[in-house]
Amino acid sequence: MLSEIFAPECAGCKGRCETGLPLCDKCRSLLAGYKHFCQNCGHPLGADAKVCGHCLGGAPWDRIYIDYRYTGALKKLLLQIKFGYRVTGMSSLGLLVHATFLQKYDIITDVPSHFTRKLRRIAHPARSLAKHIAVHTGTHYEQLLVRNRKTEYQYKLKSRMRHINVKGAFFCGKDLSNLKILLVDDIITTGATVKECCKILKQAGAVKTDVYVLSGGRY
Ligand SMILES: [Zn+2]
Ligand SMILES: [Zn+2]
Repeated sequence: MLSEIFAPECAGCKGRCETGLPLCDKCRSLLAGYKHFCQNCGHPLGADAKVCGHCLGGAPWDRIYIDYRYTGALKKLLLQIKFGYRVTGMSSLGLLVHATFLQKYDIITDVPSHFTRKLRRIAHPARSLAKHIAVHTGTHYEQLLVRNRKTEYQYKLKSRMRHINVKGAFFCGKDLSNLKILLVDDIITTGATVKECCKILKQAGAVKTDVYVLSGGRY
């Protein structure tokens, strides 16, 4: 953090970084995206499939946008934020958002961070991203979801346990009838957390629930 005050440092290569972003131009240009997407929901896919596994089981979101693979410089950056090594630079995380949102939303919201975790992390990348997209699309930002209870960190759990860990973990106190919602998170792996959040938003009446995630892992 100190080094950032004196000279902005690229999270990828540790080189000097004057771009206003936490990544230099070279590291940014090397960020890996996806080539193949689910015809139904837009989830990244292997080349040979047409529809993703989420849709086969009835996808909880209407459309999902995932910009980059969770690898390389972006992985380094998100880990630095997660473990609190990087506080500045996070506000510009939104500059990495590449997706074009064709849909107009009524509310943009984020996957909430747990209170104790928030204290530990200070930084909340999902919220920074959500607010950035809200400002740049002229949409209202609102915190719609709260955590009912403390959950274990998802990355510590095996896939099967992740669904159990987040089941019933979120609560929405607002009537979302006829509203179109964009839910934002910084990373998606199995999708268990995002799925549970979408389910709660739909139960609250949301007529459309799309998802934006900066980075995706595991596929
Ligand atoms: Zn760099
Ligand atoms: Zn799909």
